[in-house]
Amino acid sequence: MTTTLAGAAQTQATAHHWAIVLHGGAGVIERASMKPEAEAAYRASLTRATQAAAKVLDLGGSSVDAIEAAIQILEDDPLFNAGRGAVFTAEGRNELDAAIMDGANLKAGAVAGVTRTRHPISLARAVMEKSPHVMLIGAGADTFGASVGLEQVDPSYFFTERRWQSLVKQLQKEGRPIPPRPAGAPAPPTGPIAEIEPPDAHRFGTVGVVALDRAGNIAAGTSTGGTQGKQWGRVGDSPIIGAGTYASNQSCAVSATGTGEYFIRLTVAREVCALVQYKGMMLQQAADQVIHRELAALHGDGGLIAITPDGQLAWSFNTPGMFRARLTEGGNLQIGIYGDEP
Ligand code: ASP
Repeated sequence: MTTTLAGAAQTQATAHHWAIVLHGGAGVIERASMKPEAEAAYRASLTRATQAAAKVLDLGGSSVDAIEAAIQILEDDPLFNAGRGAVFTAEGRNELDAAIMDGANLKAGAVAGVTRTRHPISLARAVMEKSPHVMLIGAGADTFGASVGLEQVDPSYFFTERRWQSLVKQLQKEGRPIPPRPAGAPAPPTGPIAEIEPPDAHRFGTVGVVALDRAGNIAAGTSTGGTQGKQWGRVGDSPIIGAGTYASNQSCAVSATGTGEYFIRLTVAREVCALVQYKGMMLQQAADQVIHRELAALHGDGGLIAITPDGQLAWSFNTPGMFRARLTEGGNLQIGIYGDEP
């Protein structure tokens, strides 16, 4: 099923009225398989994160500040595949990727494969603001995070039973070896786990936010645990500037979600901005062109959210659903999950 939101997802805000769009991952998210408690929990989380960003922007904070505030909340929330609640690698680790980009000056920061920094989005921001680099990986990135005072945790902090059981189920199905239960994880439950969703539901849940602040600056941020069962140090699109995350005041800010390999090959985020910048496309048209034509032509799956400095907001996805929310200054919060919602 595909969803075209041309027109519907596009609102025109007065210049320099703040606006936010947020996603919590795209994939096979369908009404028929979503329990009402789970749906309510997702809607509540998306609301909380959007409101946190709104508060920052209302007080005159920057789009970068608003993005970090919202993503920190989603990273702490075990519902999403970012921070605590991230999916596991085939070796039974949580390896986290994140990126942030400031459209005002094209500064960017990204991290991949981090295992100890509680908020990977804050680490990406620190790379952008406190290092001479754009991207750091693995243990070195965590060491840098500790050196600039970011909270460090034991890797078992990111463990959740639901994601662990989901990994075990996938590896069993694929006939791959099951790694030992991670050190420091709580003892395995004796009965079925009391979770709001079955372990294999919604392996998605990458989170991303794009925002426009009152100064007229846009920014984008993305945080993820990547794809479940990934191996060999695999890194997806989320921390790759231009692929899963991009922002420029000359065009737009984008955060993507989906099977990262396709998004890297198409440089999806930059591609949307290039269509806006050089072809003069409206944002929604550019987003739909990349998702429904270019990504679909490669048989890739996923979606994106986007914003322009003149207040156009867009989302587009070719999966059955995408967790998403948007809010403009003085407007009403709009949340969507399934493909048939506006
Ligand atoms: N794009 C992410 C990755 O490939 C995963 C996702 O968005 O679901 O790492």
